[in-house]
Amino acid sequence: DDDLRQAAKLIREVPDFPEPGVLFRDISPMLADGAALNAVVAALGRGLEFDVVAGVEARGFLLGAAVAQAFGTGVIGLRKPGKLPEVADRVDYDLEYGSATLELPADTLQAGQRVLVVDDVLATGGTLDAACRLVLRAGAGVAAAAVVLELTALGGRARLDEQDLRPLLSV
Ligand code: IMP
Repeated sequence: DDDLRQAAKLIREVPDFPEPGVLFRDISPMLADGAALNAVVAALGRGLEFDVVAGVEARGFLLGAAVAQAFGTGVIGLRKPGKLPEVADRVDYDLEYGSATLELPADTLQAGQRVLVVDDVLATGGTLDAACRLVLRAGAGVAAAAVVLELTALGGRARLDEQDLRPLLSV
């Protein structure tokens, strides 16, 4: 819709970040704009049934909390390692160079809950896939994996073949 098209204009393209040759998409200006944030948050949850939102550190926290508030659910922050005092589960996954870990905080997700997983950008898909696996391993279900932007050239969608992937925008 028109609000989303306006919001999309607020995504910045930053060459050579975090390393040479990478074109980084920064949604910070989009989040900073009230109308854009409103449009994006409404679209991320639209038409879905979910009991709780899981946002991926760190921009997924901002989006996830806003979506949860808008749709009347709670929110869970899936964190990078070493931040949580008590961890229910962790998933290690491969990145293009090296590896990474996501952790689920203790006493948050309940078996049987329908979870809307939220992040800003789908790149290679490793992060969102790890987030979905944490949800499934807890005996919960993934209502959808929702992102603002899908970078189609990186093929991340293929890693999420079991999930309902909902990108608002694709480039
Ligand atoms: P992945 O390659 O899909 O696992 O992405 C790794 C993580 O880095 C995700 O949390 C993405 O949000 C983030 N990320 C990767 N590329 C970009 C980008 O161009 N802009 C913003 N975040 C990115």
